[in-house]
Amino acid sequence: MTERARSATQPGVAPRDAETHCPYCALQCGMVLRDTGERVEVLPRQFPTNRGGLCQKGWTAAELLDHPERLTTPLLREPGGELRPAGWDEAMARVATGIRTVQAGHGRDAVAVFGGGGLTNEKAYALGKFARVALRTRHIDYNGRWCMSSAAAAGIRAFGVDRGLPFPLADLGRARTLLLVGANPAETMPPLMRHLADQRQRGGRLIVIDPRVTATARQADLHLQPLPGTDLAVANALLHIALTEGLVDRAYVAARTEGFEEVRRTVAGYWPAEVERLSGVPVADLEATARALGTADSAIILTARGAEQHAKGVDTVSAFVNLALALGLPGRPGSGYGCLTGQGNGQGGREHGQKADQLPGYRRIDDPAARAHVAGVWGVDPDELPGPGVPAYRLLDSLGTPDGPRALLVFGSNPVVSAPRAARITDRLRGLDLLVVADFLLSETAALADVVLPVAQWAEEDGTMTNLEGRVLRRRALRPPPPGVRTDLAVLADLAARLEAGAQGTPLAQGKGPRPSPRPAGEPAAGGGAAAGHGPAAEPFPTDPRVVFAELRRASAGGPADYAGVSWERIERDEGVFWPCPDPDGPDTPRLFADTFPTPDGRARFHPVTHRPAAEEVCAEYPLHFTTGRVLAQYQSGTQTRRVDALRRAAPGAFVELHPDLADRLGVADGDEVRVTSRRGELRAPARLSTGIRSDTVFAPFHWAGAARANSVTNDAVDPISGMPEFKICAVRVEKA
Ligand code: SF4
Repeated sequence: MTERARSATQPGVAPRDAETHCPYCALQCGMVLRDTGERVEVLPRQFPTNRGGLCQKGWTAAELLDHPERLTTPLLREPGGELRPAGWDEAMARVATGIRTVQAGHGRDAVAVFGGGGLTNEKAYALGKFARVALRTRHIDYNGRWCMSSAAAAGIRAFGVDRGLPFPLADLGRARTLLLVGANPAETMPPLMRHLADQRQRGGRLIVIDPRVTATARQADLHLQPLPGTDLAVANALLHIALTEGLVDRAYVAARTEGFEEVRRTVAGYWPAEVERLSGVPVADLEATARALGTADSAIILTARGAEQHAKGVDTVSAFVNLALALGLPGRPGSGYGCLTGQGNGQGGREHGQKADQLPGYRRIDDPAARAHVAGVWGVDPDELPGPGVPAYRLLDSLGTPDGPRALLVFGSNPVVSAPRAARITDRLRGLDLLVVADFLLSETAALADVVLPVAQWAEEDGTMTNLEGRVLRRRALRPPPPGVRTDLAVLADLAARLEAGAQGTPLAQGKGPRPSPRPAGEPAAGGGAAAGHGPAAEPFPTDPRVVFAELRRASAGGPADYAGVSWERIERDEGVFWPCPDPDGPDTPRLFADTFPTPDGRARFHPVTHRPAAEEVCAEYPLHFTTGRVLAQYQSGTQTRRVDALRRAAPGAFVELHPDLADRLGVADGDEVRVTSRRGELRAPARLSTGIRSDTVFAPFHWAGAARANSVTNDAVDPISGMPEFKICAVRVEKA
């Protein structure tokens, strides 16, 4: 047995090292965790995405395992009182009773579930099943809605499938031209820059579109700095220039796509000079970008949150997809369009049932055939499965209202900090009859809960994650959870059993729940062999992640994100497996679209899209654009990284970045406390002056809570297709506080 294979799940073997991956972002850097007996160390590990590199977040990730603020006992709130420690039985009884009471009084949909893009595939799958089978509610969604959904929707309507990168990350290093739109990997995913360094070494060209001079933009050969909210117009202008200059790949368009003519007519009106007036990007830079993309023998266009987190996010991504298709990039070696996923399991978390409209395998919940297949795996009648719910913001904004859910179970998310218009969402959470939060630290959302359930951390349980490339990876446990802590899977299993037992003889029992049955003949041992057999699992809610994964494989079989051929053994042998992988003995799919697209006729689809203003425009009262983002040493809502000493020292608090010219006009000096006010609320933080930002725009990172919470200010307008909120632009005024 190799050192790598040792894990806490193997009886009789003392765990010392675990080859695993960082708990944070979607790069899922490979690392070794070493338990020396006194402390847990992080060691670098060669893996294709990070090539031995880690960022500061990864290096310090183990600090939270024994953190003094770690939750190790459930907490209960007496009505109107403080949270107090409680035993598991009392806590789970409170949750089960609360759910039964709410559902008996207000119906199944009165209980909602909110998941997270950091949950493993097994947990995301189990959570979706728990909502549909144990709770029988249609209301489940997750915070990945706020990360990836616009690119996901644009990818599905253009290519027929949503896989963030349809090629391995290493392909970036081979692209002659690389265009990054609203992406700042130098701060969000530093080891990814190794691939960009490769690209530069081979003579490649890096072009960045970003309203700020970010750490990534500083490394670019060309930086386009548009007004926030004008990326779509910039993309249409690039295609306009490509058409004018004969750069469109006519043979590719004719052979592999549909709908180009309408897009051609649409972009004909996007004269570069007009787009320069709208966006501030000089015509010469637009032309240079179009030429660099259109004349290169290989070119890649990548979007990220800067382009996607808008009320027109799907259309903005579609504009860049149109450009990529017109240039014949998707499916060409070393070329393509892709999206940089943010959260650790943002990809896998959106494939297996956490989304309101989705069943495992990226199936649609309103597709009768998909319902029949998944219901067969779950051992329920397809008619018992609820229909689609609503996207994350709509769900949270409906909580406690007359037509909305009255109870919410939160797993791995902190919407008090991460939701747009966060003060309003906080009020909604406060108005619930029951709020339950499963977490390992007392996040701002957990602090509001009626019941807090302490759950295991990443180094304490096995499972799988799917990284930004669509590569399924193994997360390996170094050691078991501390006493008093349970896994999320154990929490769901216990709760499902209590709900089932409590429902006997009540009106809710008419929803029969899952019907356990013996594993069907030919069913493989958990985690290995073929995923054949579509019958229900032996336990309705298994607690062993291997068993859950074996069930996930069956549930995903035949779906767009087909994991049927992925086993834990194969992941370990091959350094991950790219989906779709339908056959245990067949190949996986590192590169999509080489010959065809997974659409009904095998062709990709153009979608004509037009620029429109942001949902909220600047005006005399709110004359500045406000945009948000991340910093290198913090991650998402900061629940974890704000508690790591080294990260807190590196990034101790929020700030408001503004141009010195603007600061001058406002009478603000560097370090002065400023107040940023929008129609929804305000934030206060020290000013940080930078010439790297436009003088009509201010920026704040969104990792902090309290008075410095950026999402007190952001707009809750959402994209009509994806449900993505407009985090990236709203109108504000700034004054010295
Ligand atoms: Fe790698 Fe992301 Fe972890 Fe940093 S946070 S070490 S880039 S996976």
